[in-house]
Amino acid sequence: MNTVSEAVGSKVREGKLFIDGKWVAGSDGEIRPDYNPATGELFAQVHQASRADAVRAVDAAHRAKDSWANMLVSQRAEILLKCADALTTMIEDVRDVLIEESGSTYPKAMFEVMMGIDLLRSAAGDARHIFGETLPHSMQGQFGFTIRRPLGVIAGIAPFNAPFWLAMKKVVLALAAGNTFVLKPSEETPITGLKIAELFERGGLPAGVLNVVPGAADAVGEVMLTDPRVRMLTFTGSTRVGRHLAVEAARNMKKITLELGGKNPLIVLRDADIDYAVRAACFGIFFHQGQVCMANSRIIVEAPIYEEFTEAFVARAKTYKVGDPRDPSTVIGPLIRRSQCGIIDGHLKDAIDKGAKLLLGGQHHDNFYEPTILGDVTAGMNVYDEESFGPVTSLIRVDDSEEALRVANDTSYGLSSGIVTNDLQKAFDLAMRIEAGMVHINDTTVSDEAHVPFGGIKMSGSGREGGKYSMEEMTELKWITVQMGQRQFPL
Ligand code: NAD
Repeated sequence: MNTVSEAVGSKVREGKLFIDGKWVAGSDGEIRPDYNPATGELFAQVHQASRADAVRAVDAAHRAKDSWANMLVSQRAEILLKCADALTTMIEDVRDVLIEESGSTYPKAMFEVMMGIDLLRSAAGDARHIFGETLPHSMQGQFGFTIRRPLGVIAGIAPFNAPFWLAMKKVVLALAAGNTFVLKPSEETPITGLKIAELFERGGLPAGVLNVVPGAADAVGEVMLTDPRVRMLTFTGSTRVGRHLAVEAARNMKKITLELGGKNPLIVLRDADIDYAVRAACFGIFFHQGQVCMANSRIIVEAPIYEEFTEAFVARAKTYKVGDPRDPSTVIGPLIRRSQCGIIDGHLKDAIDKGAKLLLGGQHHDNFYEPTILGDVTAGMNVYDEESFGPVTSLIRVDDSEEALRVANDTSYGLSSGIVTNDLQKAFDLAMRIEAGMVHINDTTVSDEAHVPFGGIKMSGSGREGGKYSMEEMTELKWITVQMGQRQFPL
């Protein structure tokens, strides 16, 4: 077995493309350096897929699609279980790649790997639960039913922030549904994407069923969007890129699911346990230094507890250590790139100029941003509705739960939301009216599992990812009828 990341020199890894079960160099010889965001050191040298390589990946996936789709479901499930076993032998390796390539802290990296193992086992079960229905018909003797068939080749584009877990959700569930796959990982985290190929190779996946092609987004993306053999594109990333892909997918009549950005509200009602609400809010914004689509980047607090909550929130956030993600005591590691600090600085300046109070943080050293809290944020400030994608959150004071709901919905996004209260009647009422794909009562906004319907509304995207919801998105529904005896035709 070839490995994805043989050492080049002392520590630097090498990433090759994985096409048709083989590790290959890019056809035009381009190699891109991949840097550790915490140290700035060279982490890997990564071969880049050209347009021709992306086409070769689609060729391989297309050749493999019928045998994979027609394989007994028990065999497909068995391969997914073997891949879960393979991943259990790669835990430290994948964890270290996540730490060194994406600046993940140790717990965040472990979370992604262990969720990946769970996903593989869960998906082995999902593969056996792709059901159709029988239908009543008005025609005498007509019997009808639906079946779900795999789409064929699915292409996936993944982001940098949870690069293992989010790419795994696409690959594993598409394969469980009987599709073959071409994955383009983020240019910031290609080795993580290639680790997925390695684990499937170890698990005995037939050649061509999964192909991983790090490379220029526009060249690889263009093949994924225009090649008619690719039946669906599954994208996780920013709303800006997702909107572009949605337009191009529509032009090519290609199915697309979009998991995009968020500006997620955490509502803290006046009866909340303040200490609990603070812990929920802290996890919800400072986990992975706020680079989480579900992060509670807007915390909406009822006026009677606003001061007490704010004081406790600032006090707790102040204790978080910023620094080397390898150090187990670090809570906040590096942002993926230095330019993100500039976006956050701009948000802070705009908000402070318009009357917000900087209660904590606001400084960065290289790409390490301090935990940052803005108080008295109001509509009209850029930070009110734009993703900062860093350890920055806004506190918004409201008079009552109705105003909290209005503010929560006053955003172009609609991904996740949280309501911290013990008043379940009020919480249910708000949950029904909040404009978000996900609502977590008495909890933070950050939550995901292998089998849940993860996804958003409004500018946060469309479609759902997870378990049976992915089985539905990633299969096509076919209506079949059988005429018992002869039908009476009117002509
Ligand atoms: P991004 O949109 O910049 O990039 C995502 C992926 O799209 C990368 O692989 C990139 O190479 C690719 N890409 C960029 N331009 C492309 C093009 N023209 N054609 C094809 N592919 C293209 O996002 P990012 O910075 O990697 O991730 C952060 C964003 O992702 C945030 O907005 C975050 O909220 C969002 N996100 C959403 C979810 C979710 O499930 N809703 C999860 C994680 C991240």
